[in-house]
Amino acid sequence: MAKHKTHYEECDILVVGGGMAGTGATFEARHWGRDMKIVCVEKANIDRSGAVAQGLYAINCYMGMQWGENQPEDHVRYARNDLMGMVREDLGYDMARHVDSTVHMFDEWGLPMMKNEKTGRYLREGKWQIMIHGESYKPIVAEAAKKSADKIYNRIMITHLLMDESQENRIGGAVGFNMRTGDFHVFRAKAVIVAAGGASHIFKPRAVGEGMGRTWYAPWSNGSAYALPIAAGAKMTQMENRIVLCRFKDGYGPVGAYFLHLKTYTQNANGENYEKKWYDQTKELVGEYIDHHPTPTCLRNHAFIQEVAAGGGPIHMVTKEAFQDPHLETVGWENFLGMTVGQAVVWASQNIDPKYTNPELTTSEPYVMGSHATCSGAWVSGPEDLSPPEYFWGYNRMLTIDGLFGAGDTVGGSAHKFSSGSFTEGRLAAKAAVKYIEDKKADGIKVSNKQCEDFKAKVYKPLDNYTIGRNEITGGTVSPSYISPIQGLQRLQKIMDEYVGGITSNYMTNGNMLKRGLELLEWLQEDLENVGAEDYHQLMRAWELKHRALTSQCVTEHTLFREETRWPGYYYRGDHMKLDDENWHCLTVSRRDPKTGKFTMEKVPVYHIVDEKEEKKAS
Ligand SMILES: Cc1cc2nc3c(=O)[nH]c(=O)nc-3n(C[C@H](O)[C@H](O)[C@H](O)COP(=O)(O)OP(=O)(O)OC[C@H]3O[C@@H](n4cnc5c(N)ncnc54)[C@H](O)[C@@H]3O)c2cc1C
Repeated sequence: MAKHKTHYEECDILVVGGGMAGTGATFEARHWGRDMKIVCVEKANIDRSGAVAQGLYAINCYMGMQWGENQPEDHVRYARNDLMGMVREDLGYDMARHVDSTVHMFDEWGLPMMKNEKTGRYLREGKWQIMIHGESYKPIVAEAAKKSADKIYNRIMITHLLMDESQENRIGGAVGFNMRTGDFHVFRAKAVIVAAGGASHIFKPRAVGEGMGRTWYAPWSNGSAYALPIAAGAKMTQMENRIVLCRFKDGYGPVGAYFLHLKTYTQNANGENYEKKWYDQTKELVGEYIDHHPTPTCLRNHAFIQEVAAGGGPIHMVTKEAFQDPHLETVGWENFLGMTVGQAVVWASQNIDPKYTNPELTTSEPYVMGSHATCSGAWVSGPEDLSPPEYFWGYNRMLTIDGLFGAGDTVGGSAHKFSSGSFTEGRLAAKAAVKYIEDKKADGIKVSNKQCEDFKAKVYKPLDNYTIGRNEITGGTVSPSYISPIQGLQRLQKIMDEYVGGITSNYMTNGNMLKRGLELLEWLQEDLENVGAEDYHQLMRAWELKHRALTSQCVTEHTLFREETRWPGYYYRGDHMKLDDENWHCLTVSRRDPKTGKFTMEKVPVYHIVDEKEEKKAS
């Protein structure tokens, strides 16, 4: 332990994670907090880190208010519809009313935006998406953050949040370690903004063995955004609302541009429009939600999953027609070369030329996040002018711990933010964090060296476990006294997959399965005390695993609590197969007691603010 040097940093605002939300937060914190010390800590390298480093071709959230294309209310209706009613409309509206200004800044900063040659407007891919050349997206927003921050720390993984010892339930900073030097870093801060991305690899992926890592959501998204606040006792919401994606098989190439721009469509192996076949059965489960336009994403997945289970697979995307047009053919290929090169490689290796062969689609393993077409994450305060009392406690995007803020995938209840909305939410959180400090809410914070040293001992324990345990290795990597991060990860994925509604059970679970899953997760977490790391990279893997395990526990508790199937196609509660608006038209909120490790669950009303306003206008 003593061989790991400790570095201390004191700052006003600490941003954890330098992805889309983190760069937005760092940029905006400087705008409002001119004299404040702003530090951003990133697990990878901010120039290329985060989910957008997977590559993208469109900004998926842009209203186009200057041209009267969409209004924030429209976006709230859209997200609400897609999430089967379950969103925080105050958060969604707040993001939507600010997102255009974010996109206009990206344009000014030099992001190559595609333009509609006839109108001069941004080129629309769909109602909400505008097309960009995405290669330089992350370096451009990273530059804005680098110019704004006092210091950016790359290659430091934050493992724990620090709590103030002078006032209950107030943040005091965070600790972590540098994956290259092995040094320990203590960041004492007046406000912390967690922007550490979503969670992949908590459910067993379809691609295992040599293909492991080929997931849809970024494989490096390890759920720190959830585990950090959960461990500190912050409330979480909608963690059951995991997402399953319909994507091109094996490469997870996105289908959005194909549907929207190339106007391709899907069919079963017999060339039939299978979605229609499942209309009556779906109506039985969810009632009038199946008649909504556009059809909620989970319900389209539902038809896919049912059709494959009934023997109608494989499901294909009909590309042969669109690809006869040379322009559309170019767009189709470019879409992957700019975004998911792996899909083009898979097709090449499998002799699939979409001009002559309709490629197969698949449904992915589930992922947990708060910024894409789903809304798992932290329970945060909304903006003062919009939020009902249950949703407002002083500072926009502040969690239920004073001085702890969130943005992007971290924040629950506000789906369909995507890259631009996450950056925007980072800006909103940072503005509020500056105000929190200016209002003197962070005065007198005490974080003792003992608290930091206790965390230091915990952080490096996997190295100690290995150093001792390696003496007992019986063969290869097998030791009776430690488990490796990869062994622990595969055990976690198996539990989540089999008991919590992964691909093995065709997304099916029930109360008994979930209770058993929770037992197994508890024992896994006990065993993770014995995870061993042979170097600093494996130490990162060990902590990523611990964060994934805690996130998984929270997901399982939420899934057990909601006794209905709200999102067929994302997961099924076999013991409560129907959507139940009478009892479950509400948001779920959890809190893990940091002292006992036990979760408590509650229902919180879901307020339909946009419609309410309209109703008032009408009356
Ligand atoms: C395959 C894919 C395609 C997508 N396509 C589009 C698209 O076409 N258009 C669009 O607008 N959006 C798209 N998105 C969504 C968009 O990328 C996300 O909405 C957005 O990146 C979320 O922002 P975030 O800051 O919450 O997370 P991220 O951008 O993922 O940033 C999280 C950051 O936190 C860091 N981090 C994690 N843990 C720690 C830790 N413990 N300590 C320190 N740092 C940590 C990570 O390294 C990362 O840099 C796509 C996402 C994926 C995965």
